[in-house]
Amino acid sequence: MAKTYMDRGDLVPDKVTIAMVRDRLSEDDAQDGFLLDGFPRNVPQAEILRDMLKDWGQALDLVLELVVDDDEVVRRLAGRRTCSQCGRIWHVEFDDKQDDLCDACGGSLFQRDDDKEETIRHRLEVYQEQTAPLVAYYADEGILVGVDATGPVEEVTQRAMEAIRPFMG
Ligand SMILES: [Zn+2]
Repeated sequence: MAKTYMDRGDLVPDKVTIAMVRDRLSEDDAQDGFLLDGFPRNVPQAEILRDMLKDWGQALDLVLELVVDDDEVVRRLAGRRTCSQCGRIWHVEFDDKQDDLCDACGGSLFQRDDDKEETIRHRLEVYQEQTAPLVAYYADEGILVGVDATGPVEEVTQRAMEAIRPFMG
């Protein structure tokens, strides 16, 4: 059902997304804990998630906010190129790509519509409007930790792991 919305380029409605999350969190391997990435995306979803977990006698322990400025987001996403043959993703800057060919299979690289600067700027506007209010929402609940997400992947990972560590069994 979610795919039919995505294939049309529409946003997946909250009720469909929430049903998917509910199903997934009901599975055995989620009973000792879980990590949600990219959900919830707005305050109504967060409220439904809170109520759902409450029914199960659970609550979120921690929310990580990966803090990075808009220009850096554009730099990271707009530099991505996808291989038309094997689907591998390269980065013009970080992988030092000099040509438009895949180093793995020789296929030609292209820029997905999702990765075009105009689309990214639009997604950042949607983020500001719909998702950014979650920062205040979770700060109010006292479970928000901001992680500086600038710099190399290894450093950001290390900062995120330090924030998560106290909650790991
Ligand atoms: Zn390839």
